[in-house]
Amino acid sequence: MTDLIPTADPLRDARGLLALQRVLGGRWRYLAGASTDAPPGAPDPTDRTPRDDADPDPMAPDLFGTAPDPADDPGRSPYERVEALIPEGHPLHAMQSLDEIRDWLQHTILTPLDEKRIKPVLGTGDPHAGLMVIGEAPGADEDREGEPFVGRAGQLLNKILEAINFERKDVYITNILKSRPPNNRDPEPEEVAAHIPILYKQIALVKPRVILAVGKTAGNGLLGKNSAMGTLRGRFHDFHGLPLMVTYHPAALLRNPQWKRPTWEDVKLLRTYYDESGAA
Ligand code: URA
Repeated sequence: MTDLIPTADPLRDARGLLALQRVLGGRWRYLAGASTDAPPGAPDPTDRTPRDDADPDPMAPDLFGTAPDPADDPGRSPYERVEALIPEGHPLHAMQSLDEIRDWLQHTILTPLDEKRIKPVLGTGDPHAGLMVIGEAPGADEDREGEPFVGRAGQLLNKILEAINFERKDVYITNILKSRPPNNRDPEPEEVAAHIPILYKQIALVKPRVILAVGKTAGNGLLGKNSAMGTLRGRFHDFHGLPLMVTYHPAALLRNPQWKRPTWEDVKLLRTYYDESGAA
């Protein structure tokens, strides 16, 4: 198959590949532009994470004999794809329930933060929720109680959820980090790298239909980006096949009430998508 593609001239190689893709009938919508019949706010199929950039068309024929990255393999469910992000050999692979993760987390030190915490904060809510809410990291109240979003920001999160007809107990709420950073500083990249596999496993077990990331740290952490809130919010991102909305963190809303309006727009969009996807 590779004989069909000369290697001496990179421009000709690229043209040859495009021609081959067309002939073989691969899904080449990334080349042709986005379809225009998607409902407003629906996940944007052209929104590519950096991983997607490595292979602009995940359905392209495997011309070079390389297996698709399991996290980007459209033949797998989104939950299998997210679970594939957990490093090989990680103990999380063998765990079958949130309780098992909770027990393991109690006695596991992944970062220096874990030695200083009062309680690890895994998550709370419906273990089969259709909506998962992901924040940044526990604060002082959460560290004391071992439950996410119980302080002032948590009260506001509850109100935001109620405004779109979700009760706290009916969604699953968690964070990128499971231990409190000192003085509520931003998580360090190595802390995120050490803890985020736990979140991947939670997503794989809970199997939410939709994810809401509150705050830039959660949104960027999941999407592998470093973007401003203005470019993250207001639309769905494709998180390995799952729709992911990013909006303002409730703690930021307490300091900047003018951001409540755009947050309301975001969560309304989320509710609409949630209802439509459930009816499908
Ligand atoms: N802020 C977060 O991001 N998570 C919490 O659990 C509490 C405050």
